[in-house]
Amino acid sequence: MPRPILATIYPEALRHNLSRMRQAVPDAKVWAVVKANAYGHGIERAYEGLRGADGFALLDLQEAERVRALGWRGPILLLEGVFEPRDLELCSRLDLWHTVHCDEQIDMLAAHKTQRPHRVFLKMNSGMNRLGFAAQRYRAAWSRLSALPQAGEVTLITHFSDADGARGIAHQLEAFETATDGLPGERSVANSAATLRHAIDARVRGDWVRPGIAVYGSAPDFPEHDAAHWDLRPGMSLTARLLAVQQLAAGDTVGYGSSFTADAPLTIGIAACGYADGYPRHCGTGAPVLVDGVRTRLLGRVSMDMVAVDLTPVPGAGFGSEVTLWGRATNGAVLPIDDVARAAGTIAYELMCAVAQRVPFAVAD
Ligand SMILES: *Cc1c(COP(=O)(O)O)cnc(C)c1O
Repeated sequence: MPRPILATIYPEALRHNLSRMRQAVPDAKVWAVVKANAYGHGIERAYEGLRGADGFALLDLQEAERVRALGWRGPILLLEGVFEPRDLELCSRLDLWHTVHCDEQIDMLAAHKTQRPHRVFLKMNSGMNRLGFAAQRYRAAWSRLSALPQAGEVTLITHFSDADGARGIAHQLEAFETATDGLPGERSVANSAATLRHAIDARVRGDWVRPGIAVYGSAPDFPEHDAAHWDLRPGMSLTARLLAVQQLAAGDTVGYGSSFTADAPLTIGIAACGYADGYPRHCGTGAPVLVDGVRTRLLGRVSMDMVAVDLTPVPGAGFGSEVTLWGRATNGAVLPIDDVARAAGTIAYELMCAVAQRVPFAVAD
């Protein structure tokens, strides 16, 4: 018998969330961003739910190979482009579209021998200051790239730093529009947050949007809005079972460091999930959790293999009871991953990507 912990992926929820993205941008094509192994969901497990996308965007060439191995013949985009010249051979062989964000990548393409011109996405640095050509260099890069026989259609692309927050995207959009004014080609600027919050603007919809996190059911602008607000459903649940129950007296403590002390008699459960499963150790007393679908709280520190939970609201719970660390419980109750991420002082992206290797996965039908 394996340890009673399981991550479950819901293709139906992924399909639903993807359709929410389409509704937000009915006139644009949608990349499903599946980098980081589909945000920890597993590319192969997520594929069934996401195959309705117009393309898959990712960073890792091996992940691109995995998407092709699933039979996907449509567009695949490398969001960081190639890292070394021989990557271009794989691009040619698998027909991968790739971002070009620096001169070195243009050099590599210029030296690449290919029968078929590559579809490239020329990235502008509009203020994020990670990847891309600065505004004043963008047109020169476009001219040089477009003149290469190795380059086919060139798409114009940039990325927002604040689509989810107060600063917003106006300053970056302005910079992008000015730098690209009059240039031909398709355009792509929006991540999940821009797609949900700013797609009223046709320039934000562009020709392609690139949602990631929202497809997996987390609100990109939590806590301003939650997943229910955007009608997003959890793409993943992390579920464990109770291994033990303890009756505490007033003054008893829980776990390492005795960080929680009962002030009255208390029944607690011990669940088979800890930080070695990817559950954040930064969650402490008060972090939300469901037991038999009833919301309650964590008590004390997260251990490597276990957490303690308050059973006060679930007096019927006992050995084997279902503990939902995030996602959907058997009774249909939902614990949004965003709530757990907040309790840990992080974001849902990190939790999704961190589910550990030792956790078995299942795909719901
Ligand atoms: C990861 C990524 C996205 C998706 O971002 P979300 O916030 O998950 O929607 C879009 N575009 C680029 C370039 C990315 O790297």
